[in-house]
Parts: sequence; C-alpha cells; structure tokens
Amino acid sequence: MLQINTQDYTIVFNNEGFKSLNTFLAKNNYSKIFVVVDAITHQHCLTQLLQQLETETTIEVIEIESGEENKHIETCLGVWNALSELDGDKKSIVLNLGGGVVTDLGGFVASTFRRGIDYINIPTSLLAMVDASVGGKNGVDLGHLKNQIGVINTPKMVLINTLFLDTLSSIELRSGLAEMLKHGLIKDKKHWQELTELKNLTLKDLDRLIYDSVLIKKTVVELDPFEKKERKTLNFGHTLGHAIESFFLTEQSKTKLLHGEAIAIGMILACYISEKQLEFPAEDTEIIKNYLIKLYGKIAFSNNDIATVIELLKFDKKNEHGNINFVLLKAIAEPKVDCLVENELIYEAFDYYSK
Ligand code: NAD
Repeated sequence: MLQINTQDYTIVFNNEGFKSLNTFLAKNNYSKIFVVVDAITHQHCLTQLLQQLETETTIEVIEIESGEENKHIETCLGVWNALSELDGDKKSIVLNLGGGVVTDLGGFVASTFRRGIDYINIPTSLLAMVDASVGGKNGVDLGHLKNQIGVINTPKMVLINTLFLDTLSSIELRSGLAEMLKHGLIKDKKHWQELTELKNLTLKDLDRLIYDSVLIKKTVVELDPFEKKERKTLNFGHTLGHAIESFFLTEQSKTKLLHGEAIAIGMILACYISEKQLEFPAEDTEIIKNYLIKLYGKIAFSNNDIATVIELLKFDKKNEHGNINFVLLKAIAEPKVDCLVENELIYEAFDYYSK
C-alpha cells in the first residue's frame, strides 16, 4: 500500500485510502461523522466519498461557501453552530473534503470545538494534496490578512486520492503546482526539474510527483513541527506572496489571484533578492523567472501597489520583534531562513519581475 507514515498520523494514497479510512472509523467508534465541504466539493466530490464510506455511524454534511474570501472566523462560527445543533460531541469526527480552504478552516474548527475533536483531511485540490492537508497547520484569515488565526494540530489521517482532480480546473491545477515547485526549490533540485519538464498536467504524470512532493513536505515538517527553523523554509515565496495575495483580495478593482499564482510571483521576487543578498546564481534566477512567467503570466504592479504590498508585510506570521523575516536561497535546495531585506531591494525585485 502506498502510504507515508508521519510521527503521529498516516498519509494514505489512492485506492487503499478509503479502505484505511473505513478501518480507522470502525476502530474508533465515533458518535457522529461530520463531513465539511464547500459548495463546489459538495457537488463534485461528496458522492464519491459517501459511496466509499462503510459505516453505521450517522453522517452529517456541513457546507461552507467556496473561496479564500470565506476563510474567516464568521464561517467558522457557522460550522461550530452546525456541529453544536447537530449534536456533535467530544467523540465526533470531522472529515474535511475540499481544497486548502476547507482543510485549513475545517481543521481549525475541529481543533477548537469542545477544545478539540478528531479530524481527517481528504484533500480534493492539487494544492491541498501536496501542501495544505499535510503538517497540521490550520486556521483562517483575519479580514484580508492571511492565516493570522490558527493552531498547529495534526489530523488523524490524510487520504490523498488523485481521482478527485478529474473535476479540478486547469487554473486550479496550475495553482497547486506552485507549491510543488516550491518544494523542489527549497529541498530537491530533481523534483523542480521533473516538474518543469512536464508537458501537460495529466494525472498519470502527476501521480508520482504528488507523492514525492508530499514526502518533501512531511520530511521538512517532521524536522521542526512547531516552525522554529527548518519548517520556515516552506514559506519560501510566501512572505511577499501572501502580501500580494492579501493585496489582491482587498482591491476591488483587481482580479483576485489564486494562492499559487501569488506564490509564484513571490518566488521570483525571492530568487532575485537571494541573488543580491546570498549570491544565488543569476542564471538560475533567470531560468526560474522565465519558467514561472511562462506558466502563470505576468501581473502589472504600479509603485503604489508595491508600496501597499510592502506595508502588508508587517502582518507576516514569521515576523519577530518587528522584523520581516524572508526565506531566501543560497542555491536551489539550500534555503536560509530569517533573512532581513531592505525595502529598496524589494522595489528592485519588482522591477526585475516586471522587465
Ligand atoms: P480552495 O480550497 O479555495 O480550492 C480552490 C477551488 O477549487 C475552490 O473553488 C474549490 O471549491 C475548488 N475545488 C477543490 N477541489 C475540487 C475538485 N476536486 N473539483 C473541482 N473543484 C474543486 O484553495 P486551494 O488552492 O485548494 O488552497 C488554498 C488555501 O490553502 C489557501 O487558503 C492557503 O493559505 C492554504 N494553504 C495552507 C497550507 C497549510 O499548511 N495549512 C499550505 C498551503 C496553502
């Protein structure tokens, strides 16, 4: 059976996943099973899950609206209320069936309802499979500020079934690919290269690469579950990426950027800054920029936009004592955490991105 064992839970892949889930549920005698979905995964993924579940336990479905703009505390309130009204108790379990918004929010709701009940992640987007569902970080945004509220609390199991990706749009697939590319850049050059050589994002090609990407994430998290050092490397591209994502969430006049699209820009900027600050090879910056821009296109930023993005950096979760801590690269797969960066260099990096 294809699975990855972490210190406290198992990540099970494809065919065997549902069997493991049924065994786990039978063993643990839960009082109720709550499946958290968003409107879209309700439509595309729920039947597939329900057809596979073999249990006598009552199943209730709780639906939230889809999209990052709903990853906030009011949505949690709705889910907490639903859990309470549907007689959820300490021995209930939550199955999060969805993308990163559902796994982040559902994980947080489960971790806090009655001071914490069990939960399992069943990611249905590529991004959630390779990143959000693994590692136990969960939470919600505070207004437009990303992931300000949350806890680190691991799921009881993660079930990755790539068949769910059949209904995912190519734009969402591309967004997920950004986190896989990030795993390559921080930890494994071969993974980066294999991903950049993909002609199409077909399930056949992606299957093994998803496994490899999850293994990288799991390895990094296990070195440092509470993000004192190594785990920070997973934030490569995310310092500016999150600020850019927040900026586009608030600007009514701008088209919203998907998480992976914002992170792709953040990675280009971080590579340029790495080149200037840590002698990251200029030819690699150029290769990475060209590849990412070809894949994700280029977004225009005015000087005012950049100033607002820089202003948003002060809300980054990694900040300590008022300092903004960047993850940079000395080389591909050689990250350095806690790097301080002058604003002037950030403007320069945007200039490089735009040219
Ligand atoms: P998402 O959950 O919004 O999913 C993207 C879209 O795809 C949504 O509209 C969703 O309904 C839809 N969708 C999901 N599965 C589908 C399927 N099988 N078929 C059709 N449509 C489907 O966003 P995402 O990109 O999955 O995740 C982004 C979120 O993950 C962000 O909030 C980000 O902060 C978070 N994240 C968390 C971690 C972590 O460690 N906790 C890591 C990376 C990202």
